[in-house]
Amino acid sequence: MRTDDRVLAYGGGWLDRAAALRGDPEWLAERLSDPESVVLPLWRDRCLVDAGRAPVRPAAVDAVELLAGADETVFLGLDAGRAVFAVDLSSREESAARALAGAAEAVDVRALVGGLAPAEAAVLAYAKGLLHWHRGQRFCGSCGTATVAGPGGQTRSCAGAGCGRLLFPRIEPAVIMLVEAPGEPERCLLARHRGAAEDSWSTLAGFVEIGESLEDAVRREVAEEAGLAVGEVTYQGSQAWPFPAGLMVGFRASATSTRVRVDDEEVVEARWFTRAELRARVAAGRPLGRIDSIDRLLLGSWLDGRG
Ligand SMILES: [Zn+2]
Repeated sequence: MRTDDRVLAYGGGWLDRAAALRGDPEWLAERLSDPESVVLPLWRDRCLVDAGRAPVRPAAVDAVELLAGADETVFLGLDAGRAVFAVDLSSREESAARALAGAAEAVDVRALVGGLAPAEAAVLAYAKGLLHWHRGQRFCGSCGTATVAGPGGQTRSCAGAGCGRLLFPRIEPAVIMLVEAPGEPERCLLARHRGAAEDSWSTLAGFVEIGESLEDAVRREVAEEAGLAVGEVTYQGSQAWPFPAGLMVGFRASATSTRVRVDDEEVVEARWFTRAELRARVAAGRPLGRIDSIDRLLLGSWLDGRG
């Protein structure tokens, strides 16, 4: 991935997900016998890579053993017409999974992101999230019977007599927000989270709860973590975050006062920063948000504003 502030990792719609075709077993079988089709093997959320740390990506027709030995095979989409499948090898020991995939190492996708093209990072993250969902939904939550993956792997269904519950991949939305102070000077709120490194400041974030709109979640999280009431809430963008099932939804939120009171649980300190202070931190080599996260975009676009 380029380290451009404005490139949001893991999204981008790089694949044609072929929704009208991917549930058709015959079409999928043809794709698996197409010499152009490729297979991405993953092991316990990790990407299998070769000695040069490039993701292993054999042609499907050369991966007969890999496909036969997989716990699950899912269809991800078409990459310029070429089908991309992912297989899960999680039930094996790491050495066996590596041997089956012809891989040197099993590495976290986020650890690779700096060296991957945006499309590659997005497809690997998608594979990781979808296979993670399959592993966690092997039994029906209603009746306890084993579930089976539908063709292509975008659903699972309960095999229990009289149940037949259909399961869809679950997404867990979270809000992430840059909070602005009222009045002058223009300032934004950054927090030091428990467990974070000293002098490591980031935007507030939290999961959306059942029965909340995204805006409700922004207001609740800012009140809980920083003791601030929020007026206007403006959508800024979203980011796929399949680690394992997130969707980060970014906002800018206008606080109605400046008196901060942290919860001292998740957030140990929060304070206001002017643009000049943030620019000085950047100039001193301090990171401005995480390299692969939307907080970098929220902070970058605020820094580009007035002042
Ligand atoms: Zn069931």
